[in-house]
Amino acid sequence: MPADPPADSLRDQLQFFRDLGVTDLFLEAPRGVPGLTPGSMPDLPALQKFLAGCPRCKLSKGRTNIVFGQGNPRAQLMFVGEAPGQEEDEQGLAFVGKAGQLLTKIIEAIGMKREDVWIGNILKCRPPHNRNPEPDEIAACRPFLDEQIRLISPKVIVTLGTFAAQALLETDEPIGRMRGRWRTARGARVMPTFHPAFLLRSPERKADVWEDMKLVRDYLVSGGRTA
Ligand code: URA
Repeated sequence: MPADPPADSLRDQLQFFRDLGVTDLFLEAPRGVPGLTPGSMPDLPALQKFLAGCPRCKLSKGRTNIVFGQGNPRAQLMFVGEAPGQEEDEQGLAFVGKAGQLLTKIIEAIGMKREDVWIGNILKCRPPHNRNPEPDEIAACRPFLDEQIRLISPKVIVTLGTFAAQALLETDEPIGRMRGRWRTARGARVMPTFHPAFLLRSPERKADVWEDMKLVRDYLVSGGRTA
């Protein structure tokens, strides 16, 4: 049996784990909060109802709205971003700020409309000051994304930015190496590309995203025969 931590204060216990080389602690859902059984939800409205008022991670404390995602529940194409920003948190809708306006243009560039696709995020609640998602938050929210993917059953998932690709594909590869190359996850082809917020800062990388989106368009138009 491993020895008990040498001290009983929380700080000492955390220091004890840090000294052992532990860098992440995964918290369980608060007592009495039911977990999501994979495959148990009949449809997206039932899943959204199940998620309502979610207290499963610390982001629940600071959010205004849960951002479930929106669009066509039978979409062939799904976009997965990182987490809601301020405007998304206020409106309860994914990608409605400046990055969202650019995403709309990206979708229209391949001949589709926002209503044709599903748009969502890895995290359903806004991290404070738009900081990066943390591992315990991704772990708490992940079952809801997986159930969304199962229910929508898209042919293609386009991940937007580092965190979405790394979380969905369970890898720590840098986005620069992943983008533009087909992967597979949850029965869908996955195309990692840059985040629209990054494109707003680095417009010279828009051409890369256009290359990635042409692969997506051609794959969908060919009925899955080009990739
Ligand atoms: N950035 C994201 O990753 N998701 C949003 O919904 C908005 C901005």
